[in-house]
Amino acid sequence: MSTIFYISIPPNDERRTLLKPTLSVFDRIIELDGFQSLFKQIYNDRVLDANYNYENGVSIILYDPAAYTSTCKDDLSIRHFNKVLKRFLPVLNLKCYDINTTVPKDLVHLHHDLIITDNRIFRMHHWMYDNLTTQNNTNSNNKNNTSVEGDDESNFSCSSSIYKMIDHLTFFNRLNTTDPSESSALDDHIIIPEFLKSLNYESLIIENEINNETSILDLDYFTLFNDWDFPANNLSIKQLLICSFKLIEILSIESNLPIQKNNLFLLLFTLEASYHQVNKFHNFKHAVDVMQATWKLSTLTLNNFPNFNILKLLLSLAAIGHDLGHPGTNNQIICKNDSKISKEFHNKSVLENFHQTVFIKLLNDQWPNLIIKMNSILDFNIIRDAILATDMALHNNYVSKLKEINSTPKIQNITTSDAKNPNQQIDLKTLISLIIKAADISNVTRPLDISAQWAFLITLEFNDFNLLEKYFNIKSNLNINKHLLKDTSMIKDISDLMNNDIIQNLTTANINNTNDDDDDNDTYDTTEDELIASLNEIKSLPSLDTINNDIHLTLDALIEKYPSIINGQLFFIDTFASGFFEEFSKALPQLNFLSDNIKSNRDYWLSKRK
Ligand SMILES: [Zn+2]
Repeated sequence: MSTIFYISIPPNDERRTLLKPTLSVFDRIIELDGFQSLFKQIYNDRVLDANYNYENGVSIILYDPAAYTSTCKDDLSIRHFNKVLKRFLPVLNLKCYDINTTVPKDLVHLHHDLIITDNRIFRMHHWMYDNLTTQNNTNSNNKNNTSVEGDDESNFSCSSSIYKMIDHLTFFNRLNTTDPSESSALDDHIIIPEFLKSLNYESLIIENEINNETSILDLDYFTLFNDWDFPANNLSIKQLLICSFKLIEILSIESNLPIQKNNLFLLLFTLEASYHQVNKFHNFKHAVDVMQATWKLSTLTLNNFPNFNILKLLLSLAAIGHDLGHPGTNNQIICKNDSKISKEFHNKSVLENFHQTVFIKLLNDQWPNLIIKMNSILDFNIIRDAILATDMALHNNYVSKLKEINSTPKIQNITTSDAKNPNQQIDLKTLISLIIKAADISNVTRPLDISAQWAFLITLEFNDFNLLEKYFNIKSNLNINKHLLKDTSMIKDISDLMNNDIIQNLTTANINNTNDDDDDNDTYDTTEDELIASLNEIKSLPSLDTINNDIHLTLDALIEKYPSIINGQLFFIDTFASGFFEEFSKALPQLNFLSDNIKSNRDYWLSKRK
């Protein structure tokens, strides 16, 4: 769903008339009086779990800087404002234009962008790669350099407003840089705009609260957060924001690192807008769930370490940022296709490196005292190391490490108080990695009904991932199968089905090469019918990611509708979770409830296997 925002532009202004034909693709028009109302509208749309999440579709903001700046304290040039959007609403498809200089030609890419953002497979592909994106944008704005600014840095790929991981990384890498050659970037970013500082975030959460049986304020969030049966999927985004706020507020006070209420809310809203709401599993709910588990496990294991309050704060924060910008895919697929983002991290823990880099930059930007404090008390970057530990490729290393710990004679049953004490069972660095790693895969250790909800969501996300793989298969088949490419009716079918120039460009390029090395066919393993079936499947996906209410089905109804959950859970428990949690609980017996829960969940899934 796409929105046009007009900021302080009269309804009958003739500049609107000129752009009207280009803008007919939008679903709604919103008239606003300023940038604070814009952010209020966007935040409200995001927290209401509605279709206007700014990830389906693209949205644009048209305003007149000349008319607006005179009444406002902030520097609101188009260039600056587009940076504000990237900085505080990172994964949203938003772009700002100057109504005085924008002409229809500057907006032609919108039609192409919409084709991508209305299909979740094209969209996931676009997030990760840039080799097949539209080619018609890069030169379209040269005539008037002031019309579409904000992408003036060479590394930002094109004038498209669709989110891309590489742009996200490049942008945050430049935040608060100490490199003098980037000093202009420093000037741009160091100050939080006045309209964001003065926004009343608390009332934003409380306002418009739907009249539920339980009011949002009546819930005892801290008690809710304290239980291992934390029901993240039964809570709204507003409620998750309040839970997170309360926890971080308490931990920051205990750590003597207080943060102003509004600053903490802004950080949390920025984090929410750094996760893809359209992902079924790797979204803000998962982030808050992992934070809850991390905090809970920390309180049970870290209390004997020096600075344990600040350790709990830093580790809880690492958890809420640990999957930031996650594309709902995995490292294999990102590396396999040679993306810029995988090169950036030399194909090593690419996603985890992406999450930690962007998240630490974000904290540096919005809570610099915290990073300074972290560096002063620890000789390692706990946030970076914790996030890197969540790479599942390291799973077996952690199991081996735990086995080694468990095979050495125990001095005592709890972690010892001194991180440098040679007698301790688990050193601090290892322990923080184990805690966040355990929290990240803790779904299977939750009470059965909660565990099943997560199992359902990961099943949905895997389904999308499988479609993405089919999409890659289509493309590689087009690359290698000359027989398909020689059949022009097939090309037309594909182009019609894909309904955009992505495949058209690809096929045209390959037709020109069809006479070369004709002996590639041995890698071809998909029939034409299968290919067409995959294309149809992808093409027929609904443009809106409708909220799937099946999560609220009873357990029996859920597994009857999605029977693959049973084997999926048994596979994950038997291959990864069971061995890990058994060893983890053996090393730290206060965590026995984790392996007990897994055992009883496993018994249930076994009893349901036919
Ligand atoms: Zn995760």
